[in-house]
Amino acid sequence: MSGGGEALAELAALLPGAVLTASEDIEPYRRDRALDPAAGVPLAVALPGSTAEVQAVVAWASRHGVPIVPRGMGTGLSGGATAVAGGIVLSTERMRAVTVDPATRTATVQPGLLNSELKAAVAERGLWYPPDPASFDICSIGGNIATNAGGLCCVKYGVTVDYVLGLEVVLADGRAIRLGGPLVKDVAGLSLVKLFVGSEGTLGVVTEIIVRLLPAPPAPRRVVAWFSSSSQAAAAIGEIAAAIRPSLLEYMDRNAVNAVEDLLGLGLDRSAEAFVLAGSDDLDPSGRDIATMVEAFGRHGATLVEETSPERGEQLAHARRVAIPAVEARGRLLLSDVGAPIPRLGGLIAGIERIAAQHRTEIAFIAHAGDGNTHPLVVFDPADVEAQRRAEAAYGEIMSLAVSLGGTISGEHGVGKLKRPWLESQIGADVLEIGQQIKDALDPQGIMNPGAIFEARAR
Ligand SMILES: Cc1cc2nc3c(=O)[nH]c(=O)nc-3n(C[C@H](O)[C@H](O)[C@H](O)COP(=O)(O)OP(=O)(O)OC[C@H]3O[C@@H](n4cnc5c(N)ncnc54)[C@H](O)[C@@H]3O)c2cc1C
Repeated sequence: MSGGGEALAELAALLPGAVLTASEDIEPYRRDRALDPAAGVPLAVALPGSTAEVQAVVAWASRHGVPIVPRGMGTGLSGGATAVAGGIVLSTERMRAVTVDPATRTATVQPGLLNSELKAAVAERGLWYPPDPASFDICSIGGNIATNAGGLCCVKYGVTVDYVLGLEVVLADGRAIRLGGPLVKDVAGLSLVKLFVGSEGTLGVVTEIIVRLLPAPPAPRRVVAWFSSSSQAAAAIGEIAAAIRPSLLEYMDRNAVNAVEDLLGLGLDRSAEAFVLAGSDDLDPSGRDIATMVEAFGRHGATLVEETSPERGEQLAHARRVAIPAVEARGRLLLSDVGAPIPRLGGLIAGIERIAAQHRTEIAFIAHAGDGNTHPLVVFDPADVEAQRRAEAAYGEIMSLAVSLGGTISGEHGVGKLKRPWLESQIGADVLEIGQQIKDALDPQGIMNPGAIFEARAR
């Protein structure tokens, strides 16, 4: 950075009282939930409160060639918000306004608003914002946009990008652009909204979002099934996903169930190999969806199948949502979110079980199974160097396995800084190069979240 202390003083003057520089204030902003040990120490954390302030910070960074790591709530699991040495963290936590417009069934949202806060604001008007990452009460809408977050209801309702109609983005040179708007149909120009959704802070800072809303869905009915074999559970899931559109189809293996049971004590079956929770909010009075689920689970050898009460169903969905923090209590995690086409889900699960055995490493396995998006949680003791080496080997092999099955290294968490080494193996050199050209066109200095998705440029 040119003129170190002076430049920082200039930044502080741009955002009076909203620039943190003391090391104890900066520390909580250095890592996201992936706890990347390679996190750098940033020069400062900027806390802008408006688009104009974001523009001022980004223009300042552009003038001085300072890297910017945009940050929502830091719940990311790919190291996307990992701080860069000599850069700044730009946190959107003060930008939390929301306006709901029932006439267009849209909401206009600032990026720092929590997903759960958006859901609550629109529910007051009888509306629903579907995307529901399990972290919905601790993650921001800006982070959801930047990672194109998924969640539990995505199996029926789609992911974040399916609800984004418009964006305001501050580009790397400080210009603010508007893309799309509260229009159900709009094909004017290239589809740049979709380019920015999932761009993980590498192309600009998202400062406002217009999301599409739906009428609130009917209360779901839920069925839980327990299996003594993961392959039987996977076969049942494949059959259900092909036959109907469930509103929920989630999976936990024995390790995950035991970790959740240790945390919540819900009376879950600790000895079962697989737990599957399915749901339907279909209004068909014949109850066809529920019958299809029950039959499929039974045909594929479930040891117990039952329709739950609404209260128990909610408890079990909560159990699935807390699986990551529950497993975190067992050690450090290397968190993967590999996916595979549904017919290959069984192959992915079997392969991961093989990898766990080969590397003598605990892997707890949870999945948004109905859309083939899985979370193998590789657990290790950080004090045991050899265990860490085996865990890292397992983590890499899981990604190679997913690619070999025609799957993905990331279904919803993003590539971030931690999965970049495996990206080319999935998308190929040509597609990676095209992405790099787009990145270079929008961010010629390479200051936007360097090291995420793309290799950081040497400075
Ligand atoms: C217990 C737990 C459960 C989870 N379950 C799910 C799940 O079911 N589905 C799912 O998809 N994810 C899940 N996640 C991961 C995480 O919550 C999501 O990736 C979420 O979208 C991150 O939001 P955040 O506000 O914490 O973003 P951060 O972690 O702060 O940032 C994530 C990325 O977005 C970028 N970014 C943030 N804000 C902006 C902005 N305004 N403009 C440009 N770039 C920005 C950052 O640079 C970074 O690359 C889970 C995480 C936890 C801890």
